[in-house]
Amino acid sequence: MKIEPIPHNQFATPSLHAQGLYIGGEWLPGQGIDVINPATGEVLAQVADAGLEDAVKAVNAADSAALQWRKTSARERAEILRRWFHLMNEHAEELAHLIALENGKALPDARGEVAYAAEFFRWYAEEAARIPGEFRHTPSGSHHILVDHEPIGIALLITPWNFPAAMATRKIGPALAAGCCVILKPASETPLTAYAMARLGAQAGVPDGVVNVLTTSDPAGVTNAILADPRVRKLSFTGSTAVGRILLAEAAKSVVSCSMELGGNAPFLVFDDADLDAALDGAMVAKMRNAGEACTAANRFYVQDGIHDEFVAALTQRMAALTVGPGTEPQTQVGPMITAAAVAKIDRLVTDAATRGARVHTGGRPLPGPGYFYPPTVMDNIPATAPIAYEEIFGPVAAVYRFNTEDEAISMANDTEYGLAAYVYSGDMARALRVGKRLESGMIGINRGLMSDPAAPFGGVKQSGLGREGGVTGILEFMEAKYFAVDF
Ligand code: NAP
Repeated sequence: MKIEPIPHNQFATPSLHAQGLYIGGEWLPGQGIDVINPATGEVLAQVADAGLEDAVKAVNAADSAALQWRKTSARERAEILRRWFHLMNEHAEELAHLIALENGKALPDARGEVAYAAEFFRWYAEEAARIPGEFRHTPSGSHHILVDHEPIGIALLITPWNFPAAMATRKIGPALAAGCCVILKPASETPLTAYAMARLGAQAGVPDGVVNVLTTSDPAGVTNAILADPRVRKLSFTGSTAVGRILLAEAAKSVVSCSMELGGNAPFLVFDDADLDAALDGAMVAKMRNAGEACTAANRFYVQDGIHDEFVAALTQRMAALTVGPGTEPQTQVGPMITAAAVAKIDRLVTDAATRGARVHTGGRPLPGPGYFYPPTVMDNIPATAPIAYEEIFGPVAAVYRFNTEDEAISMANDTEYGLAAYVYSGDMARALRVGKRLESGMIGINRGLMSDPAAPFGGVKQSGLGREGGVTGILEFMEAKYFAVDF
């Protein structure tokens, strides 16, 4: 069945985006995976459950479209991405509603995500026409070096549930701009947004087979089958470090190029000389965007001794004032967690820290159901050995630690296998930059609690990932350099 535009007043209806797999520009009917509303625990819709034969179909569809797509002019690819950007904005309110329904995040967060997600299409519409090449002289001066960038080939894109729109556009945008066809496997918890975006892509003029979307209850089996196909040359994954490690090993079997956006454990450093109100504003954004379910979420607040107590008191006041409820309710500021298991994990980390002597200033216990709610929580006096200090909390819990010296703060901040995001608040810019230089992290927020921007290179060091998404280099993750040795 061909894809048809959906009228505005029906676009946010979950069942309309649950018609089957989207392969080769057609809906292949199917069912099997329940999509749950985390605010109620009820089933919103059922989506198709792809098997191994669907994996082959998706690669075939991408392969059939590949030659024509890479030959399409950069300007034409850009125009399609640009139309997709406009369509996302036209449907922004319905997309936000769909995200709030299946992911649970509060509508203001969902609206912010749609705007951010659409910007990747605009940014890469602009970058498509600026794919770089190089011309150099050899050091001997007697020969020439010409470097061209070519689309890498079919790309498998695997995305998490916490940003169902943005994690997809952050990959689809540069891949299409580069001239690659893609197979998107969204998270099982939030497939409706991905299918809704596929509809908009078709309306924008994305040719059949250039973007394929499949959901599966067997992510390992289906993605391993795709990775094993020699026509697939790229894996772009966003998700946990644990799954990233498994996929890297799998991709190694056929030496597939990998970009990995993995887990985080962001430190948030506040020095005595910081503007306290600005630090609190930043802390609320860095902690509570998406109710704490973000890879860049501040996981560990390190606050200097002189302002520690004042910071904790003020943060507690702000966190306790937040309204918790279903993401789709207009007054909600903190929506439900994604699953019951997510609530259980947060509960384990908080309870464990409390039994080790941590003080809980607000929150600290899951809220009664239905739905998977955990309240905004602030804790301090946490021993460094508590798991909450080294595991991703992924929830609305601010864990605050005290420090005295700059060296001590840096050493505590770097004491983690992760290195995605870090934040520094100080009134002394020289200090902030000096500290930022020593933090082992791919991204540093200086007096800012929000760093995501399509124009910036997003990514981590250490076990937070490989490669960068966004920015001017993001497109090169989907390209191979080809070197011509030239004499003339
Ligand atoms: P996840 O459990 O790693 O899942 C991510 C994706 O991988 C989902 O689509 C999942 O499919 C799939 N998957 C799971 N096991 C797989 C396997 N063996 N083979 C192939 N695919 C597999 O992560 P999540 O819980 O969705 O997301 C939260 C994590 O993502 C956090 O650690 C967070 O920090 C990280 N994250 C990182 C960034 C970044 O940019 N660095 C951004 C956002 C999130 P199913 O849903 O079907 O299981």
